[in-house]
Amino acid sequence: MNLKFCSTCSGRDGGGSGYSIEAIVNASINLRTAALQGVPGRAAAVRGKPTAGAAPDATSLLARAEKVAAVAAEYATVVDRDSRFPTEAIAEARAQRLMGVAVPREFGGEGAGIGDVIEVCYVLGRACASTAMVYAMHQTKVACLTRHGGGSAWHQLLLRRLCNEQLLLASSTTEGQAGGDVRNSAAPVERGDSRIALERQATVISYGEAADGIVTTARRAADAASTDQVLVVFLKQNYTLERLSGWDALGMRGTCSGGFKLLANGTTEQILPVSYDKIHAQTMTPVAHLAWSGAWAGIAAAAVERARSFVRKASQHSGGMLPPGAAHLTRASASLRTLRSLIASTLTRFEAAADNAAALESVDFQTGINLLKVNASELAVATVMSAMQACGLSGYRNDSEFSIGRHLRDILSSPIMISNDRILANIGTATLLGGVPSSLRD
Ligand SMILES: Cc1cc2nc3c(=O)[nH]c(=O)nc-3n(C[C@H](O)[C@H](O)[C@H](O)COP(=O)(O)OP(=O)(O)OC[C@H]3O[C@@H](n4cnc5c(N)ncnc54)[C@H](O)[C@@H]3O)c2cc1C
Repeated sequence: MNLKFCSTCSGRDGGGSGYSIEAIVNASINLRTAALQGVPGRAAAVRGKPTAGAAPDATSLLARAEKVAAVAAEYATVVDRDSRFPTEAIAEARAQRLMGVAVPREFGGEGAGIGDVIEVCYVLGRACASTAMVYAMHQTKVACLTRHGGGSAWHQLLLRRLCNEQLLLASSTTEGQAGGDVRNSAAPVERGDSRIALERQATVISYGEAADGIVTTARRAADAASTDQVLVVFLKQNYTLERLSGWDALGMRGTCSGGFKLLANGTTEQILPVSYDKIHAQTMTPVAHLAWSGAWAGIAAAAVERARSFVRKASQHSGGMLPPGAAHLTRASASLRTLRSLIASTLTRFEAAADNAAALESVDFQTGINLLKVNASELAVATVMSAMQACGLSGYRNDSEFSIGRHLRDILSSPIMISNDRILANIGTATLLGGVPSSLRD
């Protein structure tokens, strides 16, 4: 591999592949008072909690999310049909300033918690699965930066820029044929003085072409083990994408999750100061699984809503007689309730442990947060399936107002978005440790 370090990166933008700290500083100063005075110490930033000012008002946040959802719903069919990025919905999310909502106020955001973020994912999921998943993936990257980049001037300034310009971040963890083996990387970060370069066979990068930056895992160095990983942020000016594969998928078609050869250049400052194993356990996995689950619950809720409308209409047409599949509506409602409770209880556990690295890294927490992904995806699929059976032929048809086709195709991505079987195998040993809980509510 012959990687070239970009020589034009020390100037502002440089018009090429480099993006310097000076450029970010200048951009931030132009856009907002970006003086570093008043930037909190690392402890506060790592916790990802605002040290001044309150989190956004939940009602107003939901009202803003509803506006985005209205646009997302309007374009959901065409986004799915054409397998295209939900441009209009993400533009509205930017207009509603939702991209940086979870960034602490000190860095220009609103200090929203993960609970707020997953509510937004849920609201969007009810309208357009792809929009919700794009938002969920972006917010997972924002959480990694917020919680682990606070000690780095480069990442602090990036967060300011993200809020000011409502930047959209994509994620690259899948590489080569390794699939969802997120805790191993093949491509190393190549280093030369303060410069870095990365060439990665990124098999899947959702909305790679639409994003303003890519947050990627990588091997720390050429002589590092595959599990010795770092997380690096490259902004659009830092990289080129060569398409390896398209995205003609069953569902989640608007995520545009094509494969690319990622060729990136930057500076060492762009590497997050905390090693990836910590970021993975403390933030990446919990936030991804909660945010994805929020989006999946939204899809499931939308399917239940359709099923309820169908059963009501069908019974009105037959003098109050329920259609044959009506019992499936009850099942769908029941599994949606279980799904919502599961997400809520896991969120409570995450919030309780959020300031405690040891608790987050404990076997018990990690098992629970991984099982959230498995259980939430299974419940979401079961809910949508029940909703479709409740609607019968009207749910099965694509040309019906009660069609559950898109919801079913979208939700079927959930068990394979990191295979549930892979996750269950990974935590198999942990389930041998410890005993059965001694009380119901410990
Ligand atoms: C909607 C959606 C969006 C996604 N977005 C992103 C994203 O933005 N960024 C990202 O990094 N990832 C993304 N992914 C990919 C995801 O993170 C996992 O990598 C992917 O779901 C594969 O998971 P898996 O390896 O556990 O399972 P599987 O795909 O079932 O793979 C199982 C195993 O089969 C082997 N295998 C797979 N394909 C081949 C092959 N062609 N030849 C030989 N062996 C093979 C691999 O060793 C793999 O370990 C997305 C997935 C989905 C469904």
